[in-house]
Amino acid sequence: MKKALMGFVALAMALSLVSVASAAPKTIGISMPTKSSARWIADGNGMVKEFEKLGYKTDLQYAEDVVENQLAQIENMITKGDSALVIAAIDGESLSSVLQKAADAKIPVIAYDRLIKKTANVDYYATFDNFKVGVIQASQIETALKLKTAKGPLNIELFGGSPDDNNAYFFYNGAMSVLQPYIDKKVLVVKSGQMGMDKVSTLRWDGATAQARMDNLLTKNYSKEKVAAVLSPYDGISIGILSSLKAVGYGTASQPYPVVTGQDAEIPSVKSIIAGAQSYTVFKDTRELAKVAVKMVDAVLNGKAAPVNDTKTYNNGVKTVPSYLLVPVSVDKSNYKAALVDTGYYTADQLK
Ligand code: BGC
Repeated sequence: MKKALMGFVALAMALSLVSVASAAPKTIGISMPTKSSARWIADGNGMVKEFEKLGYKTDLQYAEDVVENQLAQIENMITKGDSALVIAAIDGESLSSVLQKAADAKIPVIAYDRLIKKTANVDYYATFDNFKVGVIQASQIETALKLKTAKGPLNIELFGGSPDDNNAYFFYNGAMSVLQPYIDKKVLVVKSGQMGMDKVSTLRWDGATAQARMDNLLTKNYSKEKVAAVLSPYDGISIGILSSLKAVGYGTASQPYPVVTGQDAEIPSVKSIIAGAQSYTVFKDTRELAKVAVKMVDAVLNGKAAPVNDTKTYNNGVKTVPSYLLVPVSVDKSNYKAALVDTGYYTADQLK
């Protein structure tokens, strides 16, 4: 009798342990590339907030743009038994073996903003319409220089993003879909002759690298002529380009800055736009992207299909990853308040 009772107590305890374990909140590993750009901080915080609303715990890690750090952090998330992974890759082609480990442990993976390539082990992709970002940047140049009616020749220089980030090619190709016809007609002239991602990319989106390249372009090609526009794919790069231009005398009434584009609506760039230096940026609402990624994770963990609106564009070399693309927005001095302040993305004070 006593034995039976003890057995019963042991069983009851075991069962209650099981039910405690299954009721414990699941932890989601969030692997972000770097804190050196404010957008990724917003992305990380945005996801933590949304996951917590649904009762999840989070494990948010930044890898400071070092691939090995990111690999180690993801590996650690897998070892700790995180229930799902959301990853914005530093190098989109570097994750195949660590994601095999995730797959072996049945941990689903969401590619965040940047496509993860060369692996079957990525379930969904949450991003913006990246080709459209490039189209917007080039259309900003088209509008500012009135290219539709201009005779030219007007000088332009081109900058691309990091060659290990799939997005960089989408941005560049989107931009060139608008600019190439003007280059063909010689309305626009790339004086340096440097075109194509193999010539214009900027490793790790680094502003200082872009500044050094711009210094070089100006010294070699613009001792007599002026540059009218610079295609820049990202605000951090735009800031570097503007510093370089300033150092050789641009940014005055007699020699205004060329049209300089950007992306992410980061605070230093929005301030620069307000001050009349950078001309444009592209706003991608990271709050919305975070929501999409969180919905994807929640759907997968509950055995449901996640929201997608594109099942054709993003082939990663092994599979076409079902994606949700959000819409990027053009921002300049005329609409920054409506786009960034009225929507609560920034307070007016942050932009002072
Ligand atoms: C993102 C951009 C960002 C860039 C640099 C890209 O993958 O889509 O929004 O400007 O990385 O961080």
